[in-house]
This record gives sequence, C-alpha cells and structure tokens, in this order.
Amino acid sequence: MSGVLPACARSEGLAGKEAMHGYVVKRGMAGNRFVQNALMDMYARLGEMDVARRIFAVIDPRDVVSWNTLITGCVVQGHVAEAFQLVTEMQLPSSSSKEEEDAIVMPNNITLMTLLPGCAALAAPARGKEIHGYAVRHALESDIAVGSALVDMYAKCGLRRQGVAKEPGCSWIELDGAIHRFMAGESAHPASAEVHAHMDALWERMRREGYTPDTSCVLHDVGEAEKAAMLRYHSEKLAIAFGLLRAPAGAAIRVAKNLRVCNDCHEAAKFISKMVGREIVLRDVRRFHHFRDGSCSCGDYW
Ligand SMILES: [Zn+2]
Ligand SMILES: [Zn+2]
Repeated sequence: MSGVLPACARSEGLAGKEAMHGYVVKRGMAGNRFVQNALMDMYARLGEMDVARRIFAVIDPRDVVSWNTLITGCVVQGHVAEAFQLVTEMQLPSSSSKEEEDAIVMPNNITLMTLLPGCAALAAPARGKEIHGYAVRHALESDIAVGSALVDMYAKCGLRRQGVAKEPGCSWIELDGAIHRFMAGESAHPASAEVHAHMDALWERMRREGYTPDTSCVLHDVGEAEKAAMLRYHSEKLAIAFGLLRAPAGAAIRVAKNLRVCNDCHEAAKFISKMVGREIVLRDVRRFHHFRDGSCSCGDYW
C-alpha cells in the first residue's frame, strides 16, 4: 500500500485518492506509520495541506520520514516559515517521557536539502548559514546533494560563500503551544526583564547552596566577575528560568539547545533541579540530560 500511494499522487483526479484513503481506513491500515507517511505525502503533493497536517498529527511515533514529508510539503506549497517551525519542533524533547532517547528525531540530509531552497525563496541567508552550521556539525556537508543545495542557496541569496561563522548559542522551550527562544544575554523576548530577574534570584540561591561558577567556560578576555555575569545569562539558563516562571506547577522543564551544553550550565541545572524540586530535561546537540534532585542522567559524561 505504501508503494501504491505515491503513484496515486502522480495520477489525476482526487476521487481515486479518496477511494484509496477509504480502502486504507477500511483495511485497518490507518495506524500503520509507513502507510500514514505515504498518505501524507500523497495529500501534500496534491496541495491538500490540511489533510496532510491532520494525518501527521496522529502519527505516533513519528519518524524522520514523517517530519520530512510534512516539511517538504510546506516548502513546496510556499509555507516556508511553517517548515522552519517544524524543524524546531522536531528537535524538542517529546512530551511522552518513555524511551525518549529512542524517539530523538534529528534533521537529516533530506531535511536540509528540502529547507535550503526555502532559505533562497525567503532571501534568508542567516537561516541558510544556520543550516550550513548544522550540516558541518553533523558531517552532512560532504553529502553531494546537500553541498550543491548549499552552493545554490548562497548563490541565490547573493552572498559570497564565507565559511561557517561560529553559531551563536540558542535555547528554546515550548509552552502553551508557542516556542520561546533565548540567546545568551539577549533582551529580545517580551518577558526578558522578568526572566533575567528570576535568573538573578536563582543565582543568589545557588551561590548560597555552594555552587561556584565555572568561568573556564567563558573564553573572552575579561575579569572573573564579568565572566560570571556572562555565564549567568547563557541561553539555556534563561530558558530554564522562563520555564520555572511559566510552566504548570510540578511539570518537568523541557529545554532544547542548538549546541552542546557548557559545563557551567550543566552544573547549574543540577543545582536548580534540587533547589526547586523539579525535573529539568535538556536536549543538547549530542544527547538528552535529565536533571533530577541534583544529578544528571548522563553521569556528568557527555
Ligand atoms: Zn552555558
Ligand atoms: Zn548531563
């Protein structure tokens, strides 16, 4: 069935496709992920994005093909911003806590190839550079198709290819259906002042409980006090502080980061989990960290 559906999408007439969908439902194949992916692909190719989204919503668990199919559909149908939003979501810790490590879905070469023309369409070279950085970190740059999509993107965005700039750290958290992004030390988020103040309060408590900032994580040539101040507002700390302010009482705080978590934020998350009696789940570029009662599931090895 998953082999027949793509052919269906290429043929004419919606009626035949609906009959095919009905057959799938009647035969009890509607819960089969391969069939669901193929059905979603069929509807996305037809421009029936609402149907594709509805199918996507019930796939459990989703694999990288599920995500790529919807992302491709969005780019092809011109919903490029939605495509980028989906890429952010696919990297968030899943809300079901079981077997999280198995359920990690990371963008692959197909995802990148799909997104790069989207950057060109939006004339968004910054997005393209982010993708380039991701490709380098995940050894996908040498993939011929990704490489040529990168060259294409730079050409269309009117840029000389200048190598990959160091990617700034960014952490994000999903609350009430919205993604909240934080960059180190920034004040772009509407609740920024409140978040910084909350981080200050946490910092004071942590210091009293024996936490010592690990300033070796700051490379800048500045004094120790200034280094400590820079550490305090790292993106993952801001996202955690925001989660503590806004997440429902007792719920785990789930944060994702685009780079590897630094030693100091790892240590701080351990302290905070114990101080506030909450679980903190941080997915960095390498793995999941589950902070509970002052220690981390990675055993400080990551
Ligand atoms: Zn940090
Ligand atoms: Zn850890």
